[in-house]
Amino acid sequence: MKQIVIASNNAGKLAEFREMLNGYTVLSPKELDLDFDVDETGETFFDNALLKARALYELCGLPALADDSGLCVDALGGAPGVYSARYSGGTDRDNIDKLLRELKGNPNRAAHFVSCIVYYDGERTLDAVGETHGQITKEPQGDGGFGYDPIFYSDDLKKTFGVASSEEKNKVSHRARALKIMAELLGL
Ligand code: IMP
Repeated sequence: MKQIVIASNNAGKLAEFREMLNGYTVLSPKELDLDFDVDETGETFFDNALLKARALYELCGLPALADDSGLCVDALGGAPGVYSARYSGGTDRDNIDKLLRELKGNPNRAAHFVSCIVYYDGERTLDAVGETHGQITKEPQGDGGFGYDPIFYSDDLKKTFGVASSEEKNKVSHRARALKIMAELLGL
């Protein structure tokens, strides 16, 4: 079977990629004993995903897939966007608290998650984008998932990603949608 490396050691992400990419043996940098660490200096999700996919390919010579994702809030002009992970400089909970402070009293709660996935094999570059839309709640609901999940009320699921099961979230998530498009581009 063809091999593909994913630019992440996150077990949850790897499981999602494995599920969608049957036809490939999906490997992580850790499984290949690679010391993979890239500064995400890009200004767009695509730039960061491309940076990671190229760096990983250069490191191991295998086809590489990288994703970059984040939360875009309408009332904040798309912030935190590519800075989602480092929005407050602290933990996930600090990021949530900062976002709720920024939106305090604002009736416009519309937001969406974006995931951009890039494939690079030394010759071909492919990219796919997925989005999922919803509203930022006034306070956290549920403690499932990670990141901003407890304050993201999904328009599809009619509940926050913090309350939803991982199976439910994976049906509508930005990453699942991008991965589905990427699987089609790869002919799977
Ligand atoms: P990365 O793509 O792993 O670098 O993720 C960037 C950041 O965006 C994460 O650290 C989270 O703060 C946020 N994020 C991305 N996807 C999700 C999600 O599915 N749920 C909650 N937060 C997310």
